[in-house]
Amino acid sequence: MIVLENLHKSFGPLEVLKGINLTVDKGEVVSLIGASGSGKSTLLYCINALETIDGGKVTVDGVDVHAKGTDINKLRQKLGTVFQQWNSFPHLTALENVALAPRVVSKFSRKDAQEIAAKQLTHVGLGDKLNHYPSQLSGGQQQRLAIARALAMEPTYMLFDEATSALDPELVGEVLDIMRMLASEGMTMIVVTHEMSFARDVSDRVAFFKKGVLAEIGAPEDVMNNPQDPDLQRFLSTIG
Ligand code: ATP
Ligand code: MG
Repeated sequence: MIVLENLHKSFGPLEVLKGINLTVDKGEVVSLIGASGSGKSTLLYCINALETIDGGKVTVDGVDVHAKGTDINKLRQKLGTVFQQWNSFPHLTALENVALAPRVVSKFSRKDAQEIAAKQLTHVGLGDKLNHYPSQLSGGQQQRLAIARALAMEPTYMLFDEATSALDPELVGEVLDIMRMLASEGMTMIVVTHEMSFARDVSDRVAFFKKGVLAEIGAPEDVMNNPQDPDLQRFLSTIG
């Protein structure tokens, strides 16, 4: 379970998160939507400790993420993260890219790490690209490689930050399909997305961010079909 309690985060004078409360249960898929600059990415980075916080608390399976002495590396193994653009190591093949963390972080033997990597690459539909270098993969395939890298650490949670935003439109679907598959397998996911159909179809809950405040949260049919907040109504009508 991921629990955010009264989470505050500022960059200098700019208050980006103004007291966020959110609990994500195991198996849940929560989509974060909202205007650019509303604090969605910052929220994800406060969960995996890529950002410090200024107030409140984040716990992952009961572990206080920002407490002194918390083992950040151990924590991050639980939190697979996929960004808008993932720079896989260009000089390593897909298989070597995915096998790297299992080998270096989890200390698997080369053979076992490569077995894990092949399994995860096959899982995301890249079983025939094991020996391709990232430059030999399409954008959609590179994002699927990024997902396989995250999955290779057997995370409990997956955090997606606009994983499809940098892709050509025709490549978006194949990545969303993999995210859908993970959701249907029961993966707990927090998904920052501009893909409203994904948010509507796949999420258990959708959360609308407005200037650092969680302005509306609930089942997708409520939040997206019957929005109460006027800014959310406007946001949904502009984004389609
Ligand atoms: P987008 O949809 O464009 O990705 P977002 O909702 O993810 O937007 P954030 O990236 O969380 O928004 O940014 C929230 C605000 O914090 C923005 O005004 C941004 O400029 C600011 N911000 C983010 N990171 C930093 C930083 N490292 N230093 C200073 N300001 C930052
Ligand atoms: Mg962002």
